[in-house]
Amino acid sequence: MELLDGRALANQLTDEQTLAVDLLKQQGVTPKLVVIMVGEDPASAIYTRNKQKRATKIGMASVLKKMSAETTEAELLAVVEAYNQDQTVDGILVQLPLPPQINEDRVIQTIDPNKDVDGFSPVNIGKLWMNQPGLVACTPQGVMAILAAHKINVAGKNVVIVGRSNIVGRPLAALMLNANATVTIAHSRTKHLQDLTKTADILVAAVGVAHLFGAVDVKPGAVVIDVGMNRLADGTVTGDVDFEAVQDQVSAITPVPRGVGPMTITMLMAQTIEIAKGRVKRG
Ligand code: NDP
Repeated sequence: MELLDGRALANQLTDEQTLAVDLLKQQGVTPKLVVIMVGEDPASAIYTRNKQKRATKIGMASVLKKMSAETTEAELLAVVEAYNQDQTVDGILVQLPLPPQINEDRVIQTIDPNKDVDGFSPVNIGKLWMNQPGLVACTPQGVMAILAAHKINVAGKNVVIVGRSNIVGRPLAALMLNANATVTIAHSRTKHLQDLTKTADILVAAVGVAHLFGAVDVKPGAVVIDVGMNRLADGTVTGDVDFEAVQDQVSAITPVPRGVGPMTITMLMAQTIEIAKGRVKRG
């Protein structure tokens, strides 16, 4: 069994990104990421801090724009518009969830699609499904990067993705399809789920239920990608797949933690750097 170590890959890419940022700076462009956080959601505070820390670590400029939980939609949209116009800003990310008075869709639609580093805007999602270049959600990109780094070719494979969220399941399905996989998307209303998962050459679990999948759900020799991050009562984090139960029958598997998780921020940085490269080209 091959362990698909996302943390090792993330560390390697982080070193490469540090060099890439340095090169851009020598050309007069400092990649800049703006993270907007509205309110005090504790999980969001951790995520935004981690994004900032990583950006700083690789030499990027990063701005954390904190806004109060009482912020109106109009106020937030005005801030987003200002960053849209700011030529020194490469990536804009609005940390979700937003307080109830703010319509998330409207906010996401306001972010300039060329700065939409989360890849959540309808323009970028449309481009993704049309297999056109655009910005792509970071967790699915991380999954594809792990597979590529381990030379696991998805073309022609039966890929079963369990989970159809806008941030993981759907964009990953599009990436897999664009890479010529045969894709099945399953969800909570899927009947006879096990019959599907057992056909998967590559099984992706993106559900959010600890140890939903065990040995009987996985085809011998399959590749298993576990996106799930479930916090147990004792504080430990575990995946949607029972790692211990399946490890002897799979050909490769991502652990949780240290699998897909560390790749998400890494791909966020990669995408911001790519946008900044465009700034160099434009001069
Ligand atoms: P969502 O809750 O948005 O989506 C969960 C999906 O799983 C839904 O499509 C839902 O179906 C489906 N589902 C729920 N229960 C079942 C079931 N019993 N059988 C089959 N399908 C089911 O979650 P996210 O996509 O945001 O996240 C999924 C997991 O990935 C979570 O554990 C999350 O923490 C983790 N995650 C990890 C990231 C990382 O960086 N590693 C980043 C983002 C998420 P339906 O649509 O019908 O409701």
